[in-house]
Amino acid sequence: MTFVVTQACVDVQDKSCTQVCPADCIYEGGRMMYINPDQCIDCGACEEVCPMSAIRYDGDLTDADLQFVDINAEFFDGMETPKGARKLGRIDRDVPFVASLPRTTD
Ligand code: SF4
Repeated sequence: MTFVVTQACVDVQDKSCTQVCPADCIYEGGRMMYINPDQCIDCGACEEVCPMSAIRYDGDLTDADLQFVDINAEFFDGMETPKGARKLGRIDRDVPFVASLPRTTD
């Protein structure tokens, strides 16, 4: 079980979550943030601060957002286990589903 960033983050990336994550496991992609499920310690701090209510416990996801469990995990496929999001910085790519979404901002 893990916390998951959902579609409400796309093209917003407020990043308040990264300031409170004790595991430093919320990574910045091109259009949204992604939580590394192998590093998340399920503390819930990120869910409380997200102004978009984009972060949910995977057991509380709506049917529409369930796919984001796999989408968050997919972002880290093929990557060496990152040492921490703040040090790594922005990773200018997204998983294909997110990259294909229509832009909601200019
Ligand atoms: Fe980080 Fe806690 Fe959110 Fe997991 S639940 S991503 S450890 S703030």
